[in-house]
Amino acid sequence: MNKKVIALLLCTLLCFAMASSFVLIAEAVDHHCPGHDCHICLELKASLSLLNSMFLVVIAAFSVAAIAGPAHLLLKNRLVTGRGNTLVSLKVQLTI
Ligand SMILES: [Zn+2]
Repeated sequence: MNKKVIALLLCTLLCFAMASSFVLIAEAVDHHCPGHDCHICLELKASLSLLNSMFLVVIAAFSVAAIAGPAHLLLKNRLVTGRGNTLVSLKVQLTI
């Protein structure tokens, strides 16, 4: 299976889990709570825990992408040319 299809399926699953958590929280936030051992409160805690975890995962993914993206381009450029770009390799003419 193609990597893009797998990534799309995982992203769809992640979005569905987050959306269902939001809906559950929105519907159950003002429930009549009997107090101790309330199953709705347990579901709310689980949903909040899921959303907190997903938030941390998204922040970590963006952080890695922000660091790895430019580093990858820099390394790719050095591997292709054997060295970094210079004015000579770029064929820049300096005129006075
Ligand atoms: Zn409750």
